[in-house]
Amino acid sequence: DLPTIYVITPTYARPNQLSELNRLRAVLLHVPRLWWVLVEDREERSAVISNFLASSGLQYTHLAQPTPQEWKQQDNSPRWRRPRGVLQRNAGIAWLRHNCPPYTAAVAYFADDDNSYAIELFDQMRWTQKVSVWPVGLVGGVMLERPVCLCLGDGHPSIVTDWMVGWKASRKFPTDMAGFAVSVALLITKTDAEFSHDSKIGYLETDFLSKLVETKDLEPRANCCTKVLVWHMNAKKPLLKEEMKLRELGRRTDV
Ligand code: UDP
Repeated sequence: DLPTIYVITPTYARPNQLSELNRLRAVLLHVPRLWWVLVEDREERSAVISNFLASSGLQYTHLAQPTPQEWKQQDNSPRWRRPRGVLQRNAGIAWLRHNCPPYTAAVAYFADDDNSYAIELFDQMRWTQKVSVWPVGLVGGVMLERPVCLCLGDGHPSIVTDWMVGWKASRKFPTDMAGFAVSVALLITKTDAEFSHDSKIGYLETDFLSKLVETKDLEPRANCCTKVLVWHMNAKKPLLKEEMKLRELGRRTDV
């Protein structure tokens, strides 16, 4: 039996939310044995996202978990000041712990709603023992960040020997959220493993992974970490100057 891939996605209401979610859905529909855990950053699950999921063609769980107001990005603060999606990912982890049997053959992947994912990425993560890793494109101020690996083949385990990153290479696991997947059984065993809002900027991933594994446990994927199958993206905020005028004129009644 194929292990299930649980994709945990934090999401929040904004003008391009549905366009991003539909882009992600289009990829996920190509992946067998996938279960989408979509976690809205708000008090209650919204009707918009309920309807979207109900007609998505995917197997899914719909959760809501708000970020406290004081943790939210202020409009005038630089965008890197606060980690985002922290409590939403933790809600996804908690759901897995409650709903999967302890020795389940399954893997969890934290997929932000705005990145670009190759369909082939998901085959790479499916058979994860503990934590699998691979390169991420367009992140950390470089074309790609990646683990440097030794893959001898012929029954020898492949290992991560170093990391090729542009920023803070001193971190124990200098990778992006998009660059790893975790065995659900391991998440269930390591009951204290979750994301922490107290992590220093850029340390969310490394602090989380430190609770789960040692470097020797990492499983290189994507052709010994030479292939880029996921790209970190930041959508340009849609320009809605005319929309505001329509609203002021009371002519916007259809959305
Ligand atoms: N997100 C959220 N609430 C917010 C901001 C972001 O749930 O207030 C989600 C967002 O939809 C995405 C993830 O958290 O799935 C990461 O956000 P973003 O991509 O903006 O952060 P970045 O990776 O650029 O730091």
